[in-house]
This record gives sequence, structure tokens and C-alpha cells, in this order.
Amino acid sequence: MEECILCGGNSERDNDFVTCETCGKYFKNSDANASLEKLAPYKRINLIQQIIAFNAERITPTYVPGTAYKLHYDRSIHPDTLFYIGLDSPRINQPILHSEKPLALLRMFCEKMKDQGPFDVLKRTNREFYSVAIDPEKEANEWLMLLIERGWLAGEYKKGATDFVFGDITISALGWEVYEREFGSIQSRDVFIAMDFNLPDRQNIQEAIKRACAANKFEAQTIDEHQSTGSIPDEMLAKIHHSRFMVAEFTNQNRGVYFEAGYAMGRKIPVIWTVKKEEMANIHFDINHFNHITWGTLAELEEKLKNRIAAVILA
Ligand SMILES: [Zn+2]
Repeated sequence: MEECILCGGNSERDNDFVTCETCGKYFKNSDANASLEKLAPYKRINLIQQIIAFNAERITPTYVPGTAYKLHYDRSIHPDTLFYIGLDSPRINQPILHSEKPLALLRMFCEKMKDQGPFDVLKRTNREFYSVAIDPEKEANEWLMLLIERGWLAGEYKKGATDFVFGDITISALGWEVYEREFGSIQSRDVFIAMDFNLPDRQNIQEAIKRACAANKFEAQTIDEHQSTGSIPDEMLAKIHHSRFMVAEFTNQNRGVYFEAGYAMGRKIPVIWTVKKEEMANIHFDINHFNHITWGTLAELEEKLKNRIAAVILA
């Protein structure tokens, strides 16, 4: 057991590989130690938030000096997909937008409580605060107080000698209303399939995706199956907005698929990326760091997708 260089919490270290109770799993290249120790506070928060997000996608980030930013698929080195991230890369240096924190925090709490009573008491962990770029020691209480003042959370608090003291906190009815209006229904069982309709094997690919979703009790649709008199783009955006997640199939590099996946990400709808093995090299570099499911046969697509949905969406 030793102190995590990032959060100061309990961690186990095996050479360069760190498993921290709060941050999760990451590699800390020894060349990067000096830079990690004098990392500016906001970069440290970016980094921990990034580790949590990567781990959720089954990726273990590796921190190195410089500006590298690349995926490494060599599973002989490590069973997870690795991602090399330079400590001087833009991903670590991006400013944190404080104005986004109230909604991000509400969203995180609502999604955490989705399988419990809507007004059950919220238990809070440091990891959860880091997942929305909030330092649990330095700012979490201020944001909690703001959410209570807005009426999104219900609970008592008082200002103690050095910090705020909170009683039990729950999500309020207004909080749920705001969340569902902003982020669509968490109970949705709909899945949006984005893919090139001109693929020669399109029908079979679509059926494989549908079976993988159905195995996890989701109903997947492409837009052309969704009958309506409305114009396709508006209807398509609404459909994406109300989906629990999207499966974006990039085989054939259709520009519409890039657009739809970008829209879903902007709306914070999870995207599962799939592409035929031989086309992985053609994937645009803006998205090639996402953990794509690469497939050869339809059976392989169905099996990997089924497992990814269970691991990432239902986890
Ligand atoms: Zn840590």
C-alpha cells in the first residue's frame, strides 16, 4: 500500500502499474514521475477524470513525458488496451469549465441512483467527484451547497468552523425533472444504430447489432425503420437524444456516421464504436483513440458487442 501520486489516497503499485482506490488503474512511466509530482492542480484533476473515463471503456492509460497521444493494442504487453498520453498533450492541459459542473454533478448522482429509490440517501465518494472534474477536498462542498440552493438536491447543511457540515442529502423531485429534461430518460431501452446504408452486407450487420442489443434487453433501430412524416434530420436527432446509447458502425467511413456519433457525444449519450478489422487503419485520427470493437465475422461482431454493452452500459 502506498500513497497515490495523483490523489494521495491508498494505492497498490506493481512496478509502473498503479491500482488506486480512487483514481483506478493507470501506468506511471518512471520518466514521468518528476512531471507528475509538480503537475498544476487543474491538470491533476483532468488526469484523474481521464483515468476514470478510460477505465470505464476498459482502457488503461499510460502517462509519459512529452505530447504523445496514441492507442496501443499490443495485448502481449497487457490484457487491456493501453493508451499513451503525454503530460504535455492538450488533453491534460485543457481548461476545466466550472459552469458545467452543477449539471454534471446532478447527472452523475441521478445515474448512480437509477436502480434505487429516487429519494434514497446519496452516499458520496471521492472517485465520483473526480469523475466530473471536481476536487473532493477543495470544492465538492461548495457545489453540493449550490445544488441544494437551486433545489436540485434536498438536505440540510451548516457552516462549521472550517468547512460545511452536511446532513443526509437526496435528489429532489425538481432535480429528477431537470435531469430527465436535460439528458433524456435513463430508463430508455432504445438504441440508435448509425451505419452506412450502402454496405453490401448491411442487412446482416444490422441484424447482428440488433441481436447483441436484444441479448442485453435493448431494442436497436436505424433511422429508416422509424416511420414518420417529419423530416429525417430533426427526427434523427430526437431519436438519438432519447436513446440510452448509440452503436456507431464505421465500416465504409460514412460521413453521416461521424456526424451522428459527434452529436451523440455532445449530448453525452454513450457511443460504442465498431468497425471491420481491415478498416481500423482508415479511421479518422480524431476518433481513433476510442476503444473500437474491431470485427472479422458477424458472429464476432455480435459477441464482442454483446459483452461491451454488458460491461460499459449496464456496469
Ligand atoms: Zn489516486
